[in-house]
Amino acid sequence: MQPMRRESPYPMVPVDEAQRIITAHATPLGVEVGNSLNAEGRVLAEDIVANTPLPDVPKSAVDGYALRADDGLAARRVVGELTAGGSGQVIVVPGTAARIMTGAPLPSGADAVVMVEQTEEHDGIMRLQQALRAGDSVHTVGQDIASGDLVLAAGTVLGPAEIGLLATIGRVQVRLYRRPVVAVLATGDEVYEPDSAIGPGGIRDSNRYALLAAARAAGCDTISLGIARDDAQVQRQAILDGLVKADVLLTSGGVSMGTRDLIKPLLAELGTVHFGRIAFKPGKPTTFATIGDKLAFGLPGFPVSSLVSFEVFVCPALRRLQGDARPERPMVRVVLAHTVVASPDRPEYQRAIVGWEQRRLMAHSTGAQGSSRLLSLRGANALLLVPGDGRTYAPGTELDALLTGPLQ
Ligand code: AMP
Ligand code: MG
Repeated sequence: MQPMRRESPYPMVPVDEAQRIITAHATPLGVEVGNSLNAEGRVLAEDIVANTPLPDVPKSAVDGYALRADDGLAARRVVGELTAGGSGQVIVVPGTAARIMTGAPLPSGADAVVMVEQTEEHDGIMRLQQALRAGDSVHTVGQDIASGDLVLAAGTVLGPAEIGLLATIGRVQVRLYRRPVVAVLATGDEVYEPDSAIGPGGIRDSNRYALLAAARAAGCDTISLGIARDDAQVQRQAILDGLVKADVLLTSGGVSMGTRDLIKPLLAELGTVHFGRIAFKPGKPTTFATIGDKLAFGLPGFPVSSLVSFEVFVCPALRRLQGDARPERPMVRVVLAHTVVASPDRPEYQRAIVGWEQRRLMAHSTGAQGSSRLLSLRGANALLLVPGDGRTYAPGTELDALLTGPLQ
C-alpha cells in the first residue's frame, strides 16, 4: 500500500492567475472556408465589407404612387404601374404619377412616393390629400448598407441576424474559425454507465455526459472516451487515444489527494502541468496541462465542481480556441434575495437563479451548495462571486455574478 500524501505538491493559484495561464495557451486553432448560410454559432475569421450598396438603386418604401413632389396637391395622370422585380418602365413628367409597389425602383423623373392609403384614383386620375417633400417614402441607395461598410468584424459569433447579413450581401463562402474537438474521459472504479446495473457504492457517470453537453453548448465537437478504471496504464492509454483525435482533453475525477487519484502525475508525465490547484470553491483540485499543442483539463470528480470549473476555466478557453472575440460570460451586479454565507478561505462560485424583479437583478440561491449536489445547478443561470472572507451576507447585499444563461 502506498502512503497517503498529506499535502499537495501543487501551489494554490488565485482564480485570475489560473485564467491568465489558460488564456496564454488558448489561441485560435485555425481557419477554414465554409458555407455561411448554415454557420450559426460559428465564429467569423475575416472582416466582411460590403462592396455594393443596399439598396442598389432608389426604391419605393411603400405601395402607392411615384410622383414629383414639386407638383404639390395637383391631380396627377396615372402613366403606368411598377412592381418589385417587374420590367415596367415609365418616366414621370410634371403632372403625372406611376403606381408603384414596395421594393420597385423609383422611375426616372419621380422624387417621392405617396402611400396608397393617402390617395384616391378615378378614371386614371390620382388625387392626394397632403403634399409631399422630395425623398418621402423613397428608400435611398445605400440606406441600409453603404458600399465599403464593415458589415461584420472577424471574431463575431454568427447568429440569425449575421447570417441574414451575409446572405443579403451574397457572401456564401466565408472564412470561419475551426471548431475545437473536445474529448471527455471519466475515471473511477466506482463509476458506471448511466444505463448499466450498478453495484453497492457505485455511482452513475453524470460528469462525462454533462461535460460533453457543456462542450457542445460551447460550440465544440465532442468525443466520449468512456470510463477508465483507476489504473495508471488504463488512464494513460485513454488519454493518449483521446489526444490523437482531440484538441482538448477533459478528464473527470482522480485529481485530489487519494491514493487512486492518478490524473495529475499522468498529465505531468505526458506534458506540462501549469497548475494543479486553484483557490476556488467548488473545484480546488482543477488542473491544467498542455501536452504538445493540446490543452488538458483535469476536472474534479464531484459533479458540481466539475461543471462549475468547466464554466469558469474551460468554457472561455474553448471559445478562445474558436476565435470568439468575447469569450467571457457577462458579469452583472445582483442583489441577494437570501442570506449567503461565505467560505472562510476561498472565493466561492455559488449557484443562483437571477431574475429582473422590481427594476433590479435579484439572485435566488439554488439551495444547499454541496459539491456533489447537482440539484444546486438545476435551473441556475448565474454563479455568484462570494469572496472567501467568512462573512455572512444579508439579503439585500449586492454581489457580482457571472451570468451563465438567460435571465429567469
Ligand atoms: P475523485 O475526484 O475521483 O476522488 O471523485 C470525487 C467524487 O466524485 C467521488 O465521490 C466520486 O464518486 C465522484 N465522481 C467521480 N467521477 C464521477 C462521475 N463521472 N460522475 C459522477 N460522480 C463522479
Ligand atoms: Mg476517483
